Amino acid sequence: MHEPSISHLATEDPQIAGLIEAEAKRQFEKIRMIASENYVSTAVLEATGTVLTNKYSEGYAGKRYYEGQQFIDQIETIAIERAKSLFGVDHANVQTYSGSPANLAVYLAFLNPGDTVLGMGLPAGGHLTHGWPVSATGKWFNAVHYGVEKETGLVDLNKVRELALEHRPKLIICGGTAIPRTIDFPAYAAIAKEVGAVLLADIAHIAGLIAGGAHPSPVGYADVISTTTHKTLRGPRGAMLMCNAEHAKAIDKAVFPGLQGGPHNHTTAGIAVALREAATPEFKVYAHQVVANAQALAAALVERGFDLVSGGTDNHLILADLTPKGIAGKPAAQALDAAGIELNYNTVPFDPRKPFDPSGIRLGTAGLTTRGLTPEQMPQVAAWMDEAIGAALKEDTAELDRIAGEVSDLLKAYPMPGYASE
Ligand SMILES: *Cc1c(COP(=O)(O)O)cnc(C)c1O
Repeated sequence: MHEPSISHLATEDPQIAGLIEAEAKRQFEKIRMIASENYVSTAVLEATGTVLTNKYSEGYAGKRYYEGQQFIDQIETIAIERAKSLFGVDHANVQTYSGSPANLAVYLAFLNPGDTVLGMGLPAGGHLTHGWPVSATGKWFNAVHYGVEKETGLVDLNKVRELALEHRPKLIICGGTAIPRTIDFPAYAAIAKEVGAVLLADIAHIAGLIAGGAHPSPVGYADVISTTTHKTLRGPRGAMLMCNAEHAKAIDKAVFPGLQGGPHNHTTAGIAVALREAATPEFKVYAHQVVANAQALAAALVERGFDLVSGGTDNHLILADLTPKGIAGKPAAQALDAAGIELNYNTVPFDPRKPFDPSGIRLGTAGLTTRGLTPEQMPQVAAWMDEAIGAALKEDTAELDRIAGEVSDLLKAYPMPGYASE
């Protein structure tokens, strides 16, 4: 059963309530390894499901456009103070609706349409909002992209520097959605400084690792930091922008009134709660355990003949090229889902296949670590993955069912926040 209870919803709208209950059970029974996902605490769930959703609060604490902000101002200020203290920054904006609008706000703060931006290409592991052509950021700005090296799967920072010197971007973006290795923030900062660019560190995926001390921080190197709050940081769906005092005004103005209207106050409260959790010693342990699990899983996958981009991982994320397994990413991801292992198909660097039918899969350990799984269990997870892919090649659905049964049996012993099992 969903926890907190959704009994009122079950009475008023059983159709939606039934689907929410089914989703909660699905999340309980599967090894959820979509690298951008996690399980938030029951406290975060409670905060996001409150009457705060009723309130309009355009503006910032002390300077709002509507009355009745006595408590909202306090909640938003607490969220900001917690972000500042957790990450060690001068300024935080907690109103951005999600990671994509947060990034767009940075463009609005520092660039004019047509200006040049240098970011990581989508196929190499960047994000759409780093100037990819289908995104507004690629349509409205002159985007140039760096990638990774074919041999190593790593960024060659000398090449980033050469591109920066050639194109003179106003904005350089580091970070991405499918980067299994540590990001060298000081090196990007040196390049940005050399060409007079603003450096944006997009830490959407690794914010929780940074907060927990399991990945170096961009603070002191990046001019602006953007992050989602719902990935490794384990908060509600939302985002934050952080910067030094110098850029505070520009960032706030870009978010409101530049890009958005009223902030989502229920989300702000959830962010505040998640930031408090992320400041605890338990969260430090969690962040390190996420990495330990990813490294143990990567080692077990390599042992089973999986070809991992860059050979392994430094963080929560693994990118595997399935070509040597004789299967493409999409049918593999579908078979794994049927076997109770949820991840996504993904392009790999220099992928000869199309983005909608690529060669690889991407997976992460943030969610399974929240459930309490440990490195000792990762060889079993790798074995299930290997067996499921073997079953997919033989179209053996009975084998996929067997694995799904074993997965859900294992997970019965690992509680899920948000779900009370019978
Ligand atoms: C997830 C992600 C985003 C976008 O976040 P949304 O909340 O999905 O809009 C932006 N940048 C990076 C690097 C991400 O991983």
